[in-house]
Amino acid sequence: MTLGAITEPDRPYTRRAFSPLFDRGRTWLAERMREAGLRTHIDAAGNLIGRRDGKCASLKSILVGSHSDSVPSGGRFDGMAGIAAGIALARALAAAGVELRHPLEVVDFLAEEPNEFGLSCVGSRGISGCLTAEHLEFVSPKKEKLAEALIRVGGDPAQLAAARRGDIEAAFELHIEQGPVLEAEGIAIGVVTAIVGITRFEIEFQGRAGHAGTTPMHGRRDPLIAAAHMVGWVRERAVALAARGRGHFVATVGIIEALPGGSNVIPRSARIVIDARSEARSLMEEFRDALDEESRSAAAAASVERGKFAILSDNLPAMCDARLQKVIEESAARLGLTSRPMASGAGHDMAFLSQIAPAAMVFIPCKEGRSHTPDEWARADAVADGTRVLLEAVLRVDAEPPGGAKARVPQGAVS
Ligand SMILES: [Zn+2]
Repeated sequence: MTLGAITEPDRPYTRRAFSPLFDRGRTWLAERMREAGLRTHIDAAGNLIGRRDGKCASLKSILVGSHSDSVPSGGRFDGMAGIAAGIALARALAAAGVELRHPLEVVDFLAEEPNEFGLSCVGSRGISGCLTAEHLEFVSPKKEKLAEALIRVGGDPAQLAAARRGDIEAAFELHIEQGPVLEAEGIAIGVVTAIVGITRFEIEFQGRAGHAGTTPMHGRRDPLIAAAHMVGWVRERAVALAARGRGHFVATVGIIEALPGGSNVIPRSARIVIDARSEARSLMEEFRDALDEESRSAAAAASVERGKFAILSDNLPAMCDARLQKVIEESAARLGLTSRPMASGAGHDMAFLSQIAPAAMVFIPCKEGRSHTPDEWARADAVADGTRVLLEAVLRVDAEPPGGAKARVPQGAVS
């Protein structure tokens, strides 16, 4: 709540990356990290890291993190709950005098939300070696380069290669679900199976403009008829693909545009943009092919041309590590908490971390599944339950030999 109160006063809860308020939030967070016995520094990619060493100098780090930036008029839990959980976990270990074998790092990843540079997950891209020289040239509306903004928050674009980590044993992120499933089912913990891949398609139909009053209904070439057909089709196909039981699939037409856009004009062109998300690449590829075919036949049925069929962006799904999923599931069970596997329909820093280390996520219920709004809310006991699961999971990973459970000698083999 204290971190949430560091907000633009007339637009709660807003603390955008690279703003003076963001710096104030981080200063406060770094103090809390140090109180919890962590040494703090900012890495070359601008991530705030609090670290405590482990007993075995040769072991890789266990990392727990999320993000402290918000969307405009966002909530107090998206991102922040995960950092608060990491700090609470470090504090509990310090209070109990528990020294882990592995180093523990609590991380506030820089700029997870889309920002004025038009790039999300800046810090987790950096840690994963996915922040490119091209990205650093991205310019804000104030004509500042991302590289310059990175320096302002304590990063070092010249040393970006050093930010890429190869020494992470396991990465965990606690996050509010941002959806309604856990609350509706009365389940305490979501064990994230995958972070969806997101593909955006743009389709344009070209027809013939005409007078809305004098052109008879037959013989019209109205491209919006084809676009409208596709809106309904996208919904039906998404429902059918999700029903296959091969993983999360959703698709949305979020943009529909008819030109020239007069109430008494038959449109000459119509454009739709589709956002499709899936944890299974095969479902996405099937959707893409079907979308291509259906939009051609919709055009033919409406006597219009299908013009552009473009893939605006295409990100692969990121799988959460199977061993860490099991660790989280067992940790919840050990604490007497219910859990279920689920995909994340939203993007997260762990999607990038999964490229360099075993990564996993703990979801907790939030009120009515609402997020990216000041009404976003998670009960204190829900955050506490998630934090206890995270602590248990960290302790379990810490007790495993390097390389995870697979490297453990089966108990029966020990004489
Ligand atoms: Zn978030």
